[in-house]
Amino acid sequence: MSVKDNLLQIKASLPPGVTLVVVSKTHPVSAIQQAYETGHLIFGENKVQELVAKYEVMPKDIEWHLIGHLQTNKVKYIAPFVSLIHSVDSLKLLEEINKQAARAGRKIDCLLQIHIAQEETKFGLSHQECIDLIQSQNYIKMNNVVIRGLMGMASNTADAAQVRNEFRSLKQFFDEVKRHFLPEISILSMGMSSDYEIAIEEGSTMIRVGSSIFGARDYSV
Ligand SMILES: *Cc1c(COP(=O)(O)O)cnc(C)c1O
Repeated sequence: MSVKDNLLQIKASLPPGVTLVVVSKTHPVSAIQQAYETGHLIFGENKVQELVAKYEVMPKDIEWHLIGHLQTNKVKYIAPFVSLIHSVDSLKLLEEINKQAARAGRKIDCLLQIHIAQEETKFGLSHQECIDLIQSQNYIKMNNVVIRGLMGMASNTADAAQVRNEFRSLKQFFDEVKRHFLPEISILSMGMSSDYEIAIEEGSTMIRVGSSIFGARDYSV
């Protein structure tokens, strides 16, 4: 199946209220172009340099999301155009996004990444760190970032019950944050190619899908 067919088939299967972020990392501009030609406008990349390079050559109506770990010293390169940062995992990073957004004359939408997997290697805040961040005076004073919701990545395991539990606990935490601290949040970014169906059943409103659309990534090129 072609990129277009894969994309249209996944989109047709999504319930209302679930947004698809097409993850184009490692894939060439020609592949993104095929997806764009279906009318899809939301794309995600995990590396700043690649995101900037693709932003520069692709049509300007695309909404670019940064989904991967972000270093503070690279925020300045994406602040002028990025539409959603999924991977905010520290107050220090949020402060830098706020500063660079102000410099660019923008407000930048952000998600707080919550650590939900068993793997130590994955990034993200604990529940307590997340609550401390949103209650901090530093955050309350920021005028150029808007927290739109939470993001999480489940463990990379074939154990579907474990994946479901991780998503379920993130949805519970999302509801708690919304009820007690940030009533305006609406985005719960969870689910990728291998697990987005489970994520949607557990309350995801935004899925990030790459390989099911473009095929497997080849990191050797
Ligand atoms: C690569 C990536 C995805 C998409 O992964 P696929 O398995 O290709 O769908 C989703 N989220 C993040 C944070 C990623 O880095």
